[in-house]
Amino acid sequence: MSGYAARTHPSEGVLNRLCAKALAIESSSGGRIVIVSTDLIGIPRDLSDEIAAKLKKQFGLNRSQLLINASHTHTGPIVWPNLRNLAVLPAGEQEKLIDYRNVLANALVSVAGSALKDLSLATMEFGEGAAGFAINRRAAINPNGPVDHRVPVLRIADTSGRIRGIVFGYACHNTTLTGKFYQLSGDYAGFAAEAIEQRHPGATALFLTLCGADQNPNPRSTLDLARQHGDTLAVAVEKAMEARMTPVSGPVRTAFRLAELRFAPRSRQDFEAERNRKVPAQVRRGEIMIKTLDSGKKVDRLDYPLQAVRFGNTLTVLALGGEVTVDYGLRARHEYSGEPLITAGYSNDVMCYIPSARVLREGGYESVDSMFYYAQAGPFADDVEQRIFAAIRDVARHAALSRRIANEIHDVFGDLGIDLLNLVQHQAAVMVLVAHRLQAVGGGIPGLHEAADAAAAPDAPGGPLYSGFPGGS
Ligand SMILES: [Zn+2]
Repeated sequence: MSGYAARTHPSEGVLNRLCAKALAIESSSGGRIVIVSTDLIGIPRDLSDEIAAKLKKQFGLNRSQLLINASHTHTGPIVWPNLRNLAVLPAGEQEKLIDYRNVLANALVSVAGSALKDLSLATMEFGEGAAGFAINRRAAINPNGPVDHRVPVLRIADTSGRIRGIVFGYACHNTTLTGKFYQLSGDYAGFAAEAIEQRHPGATALFLTLCGADQNPNPRSTLDLARQHGDTLAVAVEKAMEARMTPVSGPVRTAFRLAELRFAPRSRQDFEAERNRKVPAQVRRGEIMIKTLDSGKKVDRLDYPLQAVRFGNTLTVLALGGEVTVDYGLRARHEYSGEPLITAGYSNDVMCYIPSARVLREGGYESVDSMFYYAQAGPFADDVEQRIFAAIRDVARHAALSRRIANEIHDVFGDLGIDLLNLVQHQAAVMVLVAHRLQAVGGGIPGLHEAADAAAAPDAPGGPLYSGFPGGS
């Protein structure tokens, strides 16, 4: 099992089933996205890349059209090589983990594929509730620290109004259950999904972990509390669906990119010195870094995945890699105030914690010590939050229109051209005027007519959406 370094033996059985669930959405006005939710600690990058490559081959799905999120349950399996330095594995265990990882890759491809093959007419609506059990956990428990208690909810219904799917999220570690638990379960997120599905027979409930890396469920450490938090979250979802929800329409536009993040400068001597430290994981981290340096690889940076999924002008989903601290969700909300937004963490790769500038300055587990367990050369350099928000703005911009058109516009007009086109999409009335002005300036550059057409689409009456679900498993 993964999540706690203190566990001494393998799992003792299954408390509730771990699920992988997929939602495929295709808009009649263009574009599609497959969202996969998993009761897993994290999806490592090589695994999400493999799944994406297979789905590209089988279904022509682009990388930006696949979002894989991990619930970060700490009562689930190790997903190799995620958190590879959390514990020293007994002989022969690593081979089993690699076998499981390969089985998992095929299972996730198959669940996403089943969703893509099960499309039928549907409508989508967005709303938001709140649940108060997440508490800032910096320096043990910090009741005055920042939290994000919002519970975004996406409801998908068929043409007769029957609910087919519910996507819901929360910014909190999935760690009600501590290292003394040896039975597999989805923790509060798993219990919440079960409760929602019981209330809505035939519906699939998909949980997304938001920016909750420095948040814990409070109180925690018993099974009853895990069920209680799950119920609290399920009630918040229900309330959001009883309140007025707003329609979500197409087209679905997606963008995915890797941003380069830098670690604070470290020398080989720094890592050599770590071999004499008291924390066993730090000693092992020092050894791993020296080996990596010896093999000629760099350890001073990492490629960080970011994704934006935009449903017309009605909703944007930002999906960030890593264990993202709450400041990112709060800042994204502030920067994109006025537009419905879901900011997920734990998406497409979980390679380490992602501290904000504030958390990095303060130091502690999320900034420094957690890097040992992930075998990363952290802490990050001071500009980590700045780099991530620059990349967020970039994917958000590019998700507002098709990549090819975005590139053409960007080549000629730079960021200003993209911003103008985004403005066009927000304002149907000025759309024609601005598009014409761009044409005049550009002297009829190729792609502009298409850009104008694409810009018009979001304001067309919300066309039907198609959604597909396979059963979870
Ligand atoms: Zn964590």
